[in-house]
Amino acid sequence: MKKLLLLSLLGAYAVYGASKNLEIYWIDAEGGAATLIVSPSGESMLVDTANRTPDDRDAKRIFAATQQAGLKKIDFLVTTHFHGDHIGAMAALAKMIPIGVYMDHGESVEIARPAVATAYKAYLELAGTTRRILKPGDRIPLKGVDVQVIMSAGQGILKPLKNAGAKNATCADFKEHAPDTDPDNDQSVGFLLKFGKFDFLDLGDLTRNYEQKLVCPVNLIGKVDLYQTSHHGLDRSNSPQLLTAIQPTVAVMNNGPRKGGQATVFETLRKSGGVGDIWQGHLALDTPKEVNTGEDMIANMEPTAECKGNMLKVSVESKGTFIMTNLRNGFTKTYNSK
Ligand SMILES: [Zn+2]
Ligand SMILES: [Zn+2]
Repeated sequence: MKKLLLLSLLGAYAVYGASKNLEIYWIDAEGGAATLIVSPSGESMLVDTANRTPDDRDAKRIFAATQQAGLKKIDFLVTTHFHGDHIGAMAALAKMIPIGVYMDHGESVEIARPAVATAYKAYLELAGTTRRILKPGDRIPLKGVDVQVIMSAGQGILKPLKNAGAKNATCADFKEHAPDTDPDNDQSVGFLLKFGKFDFLDLGDLTRNYEQKLVCPVNLIGKVDLYQTSHHGLDRSNSPQLLTAIQPTVAVMNNGPRKGGQATVFETLRKSGGVGDIWQGHLALDTPKEVNTGEDMIANMEPTAECKGNMLKVSVESKGTFIMTNLRNGFTKTYNSK
């Protein structure tokens, strides 16, 4: 009898223990962005809502992820910026699952473009009174983890985060680029999420000139464990100055079959001194196969028409160990936080 009771207690502990992990899902959006974060508290935060398609492909994929995670609502929706590959599926998704607070960088700087003005107006109507504009230094109150906004509307934090502040020797090599032709990229909300020793960095589609604000002349961010490559792994972002500063142990690239995943970005990541592994949402078809990461760590191999939309996932234990999983083939790999 006693033995049985002990066994059932252990069983309950195992279930309880598993739910205490932080989990992040990268939803495949064929080169769009949608990252679902589920805190050990059970609260959730979705970062971006991918593309709009006639069949609501991305909204359905995001919804499926919320169901896999056992969510009844999305507590916080952070829209990094107002481009179609980051807000496209929002309206369709909002009909599938309740969304709590809508957070963003403030008015789009591309409002003179009619398509942007329409999308922005629709966003305001959907967000209604729950909208909150984020400023650098703000905290997103996702219970159980610490989420700090470090970039928003082109402004970065001004003081180094804890354990950061080292001079960045690569800054002397930086040359200012021409301003981005899609300037809302540089308005992106960027944040650092901390859970114990583990940290995760997402800077939206921030481009090279604006990355410098965070890492030159001193590195205000510090080193990170997991980095979602900015801008789907495009070379307009992901400067050597940023990557040698943050030295991520793992990089997750939310590229599409023919978007992002540029060979030069793989090279910069591999030279950064930190990247142990790169995981990809898609095989980048325009980049040589041998430059892409190993097949085991790529969630989708096919062009969009045949793509099943497999996800990548990380599960982070409170002691700092984090386990990456490719949901296409079940391949997993375990890493330690710095
Ligand atoms: Zn963009
Ligand atoms: Zn984008």
